[in-house]
Amino acid sequence: PDNQVIPDPSKKTLVILGTGWGTVALLKKLDTENYNVVVISPRNYFLFTPLLPSCTTGTIEHRSIMEPIRTILQQKKAAVKYYEAEATKVDSERKVIRIKDESEIKGTVSETEVPYDMLVIGVGAENATFGIPGVRENGCFLKEIGDAQQIRKKIMDCVETAAFKDQDPEEINRLLHMVVVGGGPTGVEFAGELQDFFEQDIKRLIPDISDRFKVTLIEALPNVLPSFSKQLIDYTESTFKEEKIDILTKTMVKKVTDKAVEAEASKPDGSKERITLPYGLLVWATGNAVRPIVKDLMTNISAQKDSRRGLAVNEYLVVQGTRDIWAVGDCAVAGYAPTAQVASQEGAFLAKLFNNMAKTEALEDQIRDLSSTLNLKPGNAADIARQIEDYERQLRRVKDIKPFHYSHQGSLAYIGSEKAVADIAWFNGNVASGGTWTYLFWRSAYLSMCFSTRNRLLVLNDWAKSKIFGRDVSRE
Ligand code: FAD
Ligand code: NAD
Repeated sequence: PDNQVIPDPSKKTLVILGTGWGTVALLKKLDTENYNVVVISPRNYFLFTPLLPSCTTGTIEHRSIMEPIRTILQQKKAAVKYYEAEATKVDSERKVIRIKDESEIKGTVSETEVPYDMLVIGVGAENATFGIPGVRENGCFLKEIGDAQQIRKKIMDCVETAAFKDQDPEEINRLLHMVVVGGGPTGVEFAGELQDFFEQDIKRLIPDISDRFKVTLIEALPNVLPSFSKQLIDYTESTFKEEKIDILTKTMVKKVTDKAVEAEASKPDGSKERITLPYGLLVWATGNAVRPIVKDLMTNISAQKDSRRGLAVNEYLVVQGTRDIWAVGDCAVAGYAPTAQVASQEGAFLAKLFNNMAKTEALEDQIRDLSSTLNLKPGNAADIARQIEDYERQLRRVKDIKPFHYSHQGSLAYIGSEKAVADIAWFNGNVASGGTWTYLFWRSAYLSMCFSTRNRLLVLNDWAKSKIFGRDVSRE
C-alpha cells in the first residue's frame, strides 16, 4: 500500500499508542480499511517478551524475538501511518496527542501533535523501584532488548574481571555474585537462565573461577512465584536448591550501592535483621509501575482519581470517564494480571469491536439511504423493504457484541536446568506440572507463539546453535 496517502476525510482517525502485545494483537486483526490508522511508538518493533530472559545469556540472539512494525503494517490491506516517537501527553479535551522523537538522530521537527477521533493506549508499564535508593543508578532491569544486551555484557565483564591476573579473592567473590531482586516469573526465569549459562558454558571455558560463581534471588514475600500453585512453588524452590541458587525469601531490599545490596530479612521469631550482600551484577525485577503519560492522563480525568495501578477501564475496555479512549495491556486496569496473554486477548477484542463499529455504521448508512428511496421508487417498494429488513437483521447481529471476557490458558515459566513449571487450564480443571517434559512443552508452546515463521526459525536455530557449540561468550 502507498504509505503516503492523505488521510481519508470520510473516515475516522484511529490513533494507537504502542507496539507491544496489546496493540500488535489489535493491529493484526483490525480491518484497516475502515479507519485512518496511525501508530505511535518509540520502539519500531514488536518484542516477544517471554523469551527475553534467554537473550541475557545468549541462548537466544535478541533479533530472533523482534519483529519490525513496518513488516507487520505492510501486510495490512490499507496503509497505516507509523511514527517512531514517544507520546508525551494525551489532551482529551482537544483530542490531540503530543509526540516527541526521542531517538539519537533528529530532524528539524522532533515534536508535534497528532489529532485523533478514537484513541487506543497500549504503552505498557515501566519498572517499579518503589523509590528504593540506588536501584536506577546501579541495577539492570529486564524489560527491553537494551536491558538484555546490557546484562549479557555485564555478566561477561564480571567474569573476565574476576579472572584478571592477581585479582583479590574477596573481589572475585563479589564480582561473581549475581543478585536478582524480585521472585516473580521474571526474576525466577532470569536466575534459571543465568545458572544454566554458568553450568553449561562458563564453568567449562573458565574453570579456575568456577567454584566462586553464585546466584542469589531475593524476594520480599514468604515464597517465590506467588501466582503459581503451591506444588509448583515448592518444586521451583527445591529445583533452585539443587541448582545451587540461593533463595532469600521474606527479605526486602531497602538500599542499593554500587557494590552491595542492603536488605531487611524477617527471621522466624519475627525479628528483623539487616544484611549486606556484595554483588557484581544486580538485576531488578520487582514488577510494574505506571508510565508518566498514563499518570498524567489519570490526574486529568476525575473518574480515574481512585485508580492507582493504571487506567481503569469498563467491560468494553473504554477508559472510565472518557468516550473515545480505550486502553489495553499493562497500562489498563481491567481486573486481570499484567501479562502478555491478557494484553493480546484485549487487543484482539478491540479489533473485533472496531471492525463491528465500522460495519454498524456502514449498515446504518445503507438503511438510511434505502429508506429515503422508498418514496421515490414506489414500484420497487417491496424489494427495498425486503433489503432493509435484511440489513436490519445483519445490524442486530453485528451490534450484539459481548463485553470483554478473558480466557486464561495457563501460566508457564522456565526455572533452569531444562525444567519448567506449568499451571495449565485443562477441561475446566487445572493441571500443575513441573520437570523436563514441561520444559519441552514450554519450548514448543513459546515457539508456536512466536510472532512469525521467520522468528520461529531464528529461535530454533539459536537453540540448536547454543546446544551444539555452546553460548557465545564474547563481550560486545
Ligand atoms: P508492552 O508489550 O510492554 O508494549 C508497550 C509498547 O508501548 C512498547 O512498544 C513501548 O515501546 C510503547 N511505549 C512505551 N511508552 C510509550 C509512549 N509514551 N508512547 C507510545 N508508545 C509507548 N507475559 C506472559 O503472559 N507470559 C510470559 O511468558 C511473559 N514473560 C515475560 C518476560 C519478561 C522478561 C517480561 C518483562 C514480561 C513478560 N510477560 C509475560 C509480561 C508481558 O510482556 C506484558 O504483560 C506485556 O508485554 C504487556 O503488553 P502491553 O501491550 O501492555 O505492553
Ligand atoms: P511480579 O510483580 O510478578 O513480581 C515482583 C516480585 O518482587 C514480587 O513477588 C514482590 O514481592 C517482589 N518485590 C517487590 N519489592 C521487593 C523488594 N524491595 N525486595 C525484594 N522483593 C521485592 O513482577 P515480574 O516477575 O516482573 O512480572 C511482571 C508481570 O509479567 C506479571 O504479571 C507476570 O505474571 C508477568 N510475567 C510472566 C512470565 C511468565 O508467565 N513466564 C514471565 C515474566 C513476567
